[in-house]
Amino acid sequence: MTTTNTIQHWINGAATPGASTRTAPVWNPATGAEQAAVLMAEAGDVDTAVAAAAKAFESWSESSLTQRTRVMFRLRELLVEHEDELAGIIAAEHGKVIDDARGEIVRGREVVEYACGIISALKGGYSDQISTGIDTFDFRQPLGVVAGITPFNFPIMVPLWMHPIAIACGNTFVLKPSERDPSAASFVAGLYKQAGLPDGVFNVVHGDKVAVDALLDHPGIEAVSFVGSTPIARYVHERATAAGKRVQALGGAKNHAVVLPDADLEYAADHLTAAAFGSAGQRCMAISAAVAVGDAADALLPVLAEKAAAIRVGPGQDVGNDMGPVITAQARDRVASYVASGVEQGAVAVVDGRDLKVEGHEDGFFVGPTLLDRVTTEMDVYTDEVFGPLLVVVRAADLDEAIELINANPYGNGTAIFTSDGEAARRFQRGVHVGMIGVNVPIPVPMSHYSFGGWKDSLFGDYHVHGPEGVHFYTRAKVVTSRWPHVSRSVEAAFNFPTHG
Ligand code: NAD
Repeated sequence: MTTTNTIQHWINGAATPGASTRTAPVWNPATGAEQAAVLMAEAGDVDTAVAAAAKAFESWSESSLTQRTRVMFRLRELLVEHEDELAGIIAAEHGKVIDDARGEIVRGREVVEYACGIISALKGGYSDQISTGIDTFDFRQPLGVVAGITPFNFPIMVPLWMHPIAIACGNTFVLKPSERDPSAASFVAGLYKQAGLPDGVFNVVHGDKVAVDALLDHPGIEAVSFVGSTPIARYVHERATAAGKRVQALGGAKNHAVVLPDADLEYAADHLTAAAFGSAGQRCMAISAAVAVGDAADALLPVLAEKAAAIRVGPGQDVGNDMGPVITAQARDRVASYVASGVEQGAVAVVDGRDLKVEGHEDGFFVGPTLLDRVTTEMDVYTDEVFGPLLVVVRAADLDEAIELINANPYGNGTAIFTSDGEAARRFQRGVHVGMIGVNVPIPVPMSHYSFGGWKDSLFGDYHVHGPEGVHFYTRAKVVTSRWPHVSRSVEAAFNFPTHG
């Protein structure tokens, strides 16, 4: 059953079909054709991967930080060397445009760069003579085998939020990537091998709910990182915590951008357009709701409409396109039905992308940029995460009303404000119940030295991902209190310049 275009698991340093008997189609969203099949792991495949990871943990957790960072430095170089190939894989399976695929590779690579500095990140504290004759210090140790379960929309970046940090901290990893665009994960597994990572430290099991449930319940897994939609994030958090695991589960979003009347409207419209329609709106940090304050709406709408209508939509692999298709035919139809319901409930379709046809790609999963005005907070198109190229415009009388509106929303992933008023920006950043805030920055994804995470229904668990919170998530602390009444020992001298491996 394993033909060349059947994507296999990666366990213990090699591609393997395992015991899987089921497959799922991997579509080319730009053509609508099935381009590959991916194996769907059974619980037994998860067992095999966890056993390989558990075995590898014995030695990997004892490897020095220097040895681990050397692997990360090499991985970083390989990600640079293979950027074209990887961007091609992402564009082919996800559908996003090549430059956008490069963008996610770069942002994911930055996490590897952070992991290259794990020696600094893991430094503990030391208090000499904290009590008479007593010193205290703390240090952190890896958890064991940890799992990552990731969504389709960033097939390389989101897994890279997790595994470089986990592995640099001394854990071993089992990744269950999205079954819709699985190849990037398998490709990265090959790069790790080239980088010198020992077999079994990084494993990939492809699959669906069967594989996910097996990971959530598995007694050999210490922690689960999840990124995906809110209902599944909630489920993963409940089930894996019930099984005694540490869990961070990042969910969906409805990200608002507030535009104050004093903003540079041309700048705001440019950035809103890119943030709403880039990657066909399939970003957890996409701006899906613009909140026009006061008389900003009347000036903003025509500029937004013009820019949305000018977006070049087509296959992601064709240079020159701004926006590709959505991930599946179902996703396309779902976006169209939300637009229909919005119009039915009273919204005004200023730009309507439902009938878009891309010449030569009539069977592709395309839906054009859509702009709905006069949207209210009761409409389904406002309350639900649509996850497509749809920007809704709601109106607020003043900044306080805009902040209230954002805080009443169950999601709290990202938000932005466009203004030239520093005081208003400060009031906004302090007042919104949202984890990541942009001031004249539409997609405020923190750089890798900070941690990424939302509030409310956008994150279940206590830790954000990557950066310092990622290091804490994948390690446990110990505090040592020591007293040495008398010690004498000799250390051999060496003539060579000392090297510590
Ligand atoms: P999804 O929730 O459908 O899938 C995510 C993962 O869960 C996949 O690996 C999938 O195989 C698995 N899964 C799906 N259904 C399951 C089930 N019933 N039981 C167990 N596992 C299941 O999400 P998606 O459609 O792949 O990705 C889009 C969603 O992810 C959006 O909601 C988006 O906002 C969210 N997202 C959030 C962030 C963030 O940082 N908060 C980042 C990226 C994406």
